[in-house]
Amino acid sequence: MLLNDITDKLFIGSTFFLAAVLMIEVGTRLFIEKRKLPADGLSNFLLFLPFNYVTHILGPVLVVGYLLPVADWTGMSVPLSWWTLPLYILVGEFIFYGNHAWAHNCRLLWADHSIHHSSEEYDFTTNLRLTPFTILYRLPFLFLFVSLGFDPVALTVYGGTISSFQTFCHTDRFLDKDFGWLDYFFVTPNNHAVHHASNPIYIDKNNGGLFVIFDHLFGTFKKMDPNERPVFGVTVPINTHNPLKIITRSGFGPLWADLKEAPDFKTRLNILWRNPAWYGTEFKSKKMLESENDIQKERAA
Ligand SMILES: [Zn+2]
Repeated sequence: MLLNDITDKLFIGSTFFLAAVLMIEVGTRLFIEKRKLPADGLSNFLLFLPFNYVTHILGPVLVVGYLLPVADWTGMSVPLSWWTLPLYILVGEFIFYGNHAWAHNCRLLWADHSIHHSSEEYDFTTNLRLTPFTILYRLPFLFLFVSLGFDPVALTVYGGTISSFQTFCHTDRFLDKDFGWLDYFFVTPNNHAVHHASNPIYIDKNNGGLFVIFDHLFGTFKKMDPNERPVFGVTVPINTHNPLKIITRSGFGPLWADLKEAPDFKTRLNILWRNPAWYGTEFKSKKMLESENDIQKERAA
């Protein structure tokens, strides 16, 4: 009953949140900045609808059917109170960082997460560009910490809240500003812009949720270089605003093509679980080299 209450409130809250985000982005562009609406805005919104709906249904099913039994079975319990709050935040951040970094380094998960990264625009609506699969790869990390006694509902709510907070970090409005020390501790619009950039020096950097502490710890932190403006999108542009084509061209289409082309079962397994650059490495390295050369030519001009 309590869980249903929480998820209903989250669903209503996320719907109002979505409406507010769209109004702020559209209102700011039209009435203050006098610039065009994002070409990907409508597709991002259309992709968000099934994500939000399925997550609302699937979230409680997974918590009740999968995480609560683990919590009952483990026999350990980390009480949820103000003095354990820092520990819960630390664990929530680790889960966010862990599944996010995994989504960038495993081809099967990247097929889904690359959809989020495929827009060549970077505004509040970019954070809506998600698919219902996203919730699934949070489960192994949740399983680990719930089995250590952490409250499954608190960890799930933390992950959802941080994802919503990040909406306001998806904006290119501050690229010329320096956030100073904030950039070294928190996720900000500029260090998250680095995360969404396809420039070779920025790829797979800054995977944090609210903080970038685990990026510092695991060597994936990168502050934006004022001489290297982020180029948003994935390394091979998808050239479409059609939501269905976004899904097939971003990650799932190329993955399917590689699986069909692969010579044997072992190679197919490797394609699925290894880094996205593992198969067709020569092609991707060449693409990276070309863009590096382009940047050097631009600088020399
Ligand atoms: Zn990402």
